[in-house]
Amino acid sequence: MSETIFTKIINREIPADIVYEDDRALAFKDINPQAPVHLLIIPKQPIATANAITQDDREVVGHLYWVAGEIARRDGFADDGYRLVMNCNDDGGQTVYHIHVHLLAGKPLGWPPYQERKKSAL
Ligand code: AMP
Repeated sequence: MSETIFTKIINREIPADIVYEDDRALAFKDINPQAPVHLLIIPKQPIATANAITQDDREVVGHLYWVAGEIARRDGFADDGYRLVMNCNDDGGQTVYHIHVHLLAGKPLGWPPYQERKKSAL
């Protein structure tokens, strides 16, 4: 898999506003926030898309969701609530091919969580 911008963030080759780190995961503020709180939680091990998650990855992918809860409890919005989203491939709106959980919080969020758009010309 070719290196993405998220690997550069993990390796501190480009800056990011990092809010959580452990041996398996990193969380940082989205550069283009869609809610008052918009974080990205990523595995340090690169996995391109949700389709590429294997049985061996179950522990690390579950860990991303545990990290989300830890941040929510730490930052005081766990009880108010939040949304976790992982986009997959073009129809899902994925633009960075290193899996990431979007954590959106800080206000009541609408549903459905998308706007209509035409299929991308790839
Ligand atoms: P997705 O479209 O689901 O693949 O999400 C990719 C997300 O990465 C988008 O919400 C972007 O705003 C965000 N993003 C891209 N580059 C950076 C960056 N350098 N630092 C923080 N967030 C980024």
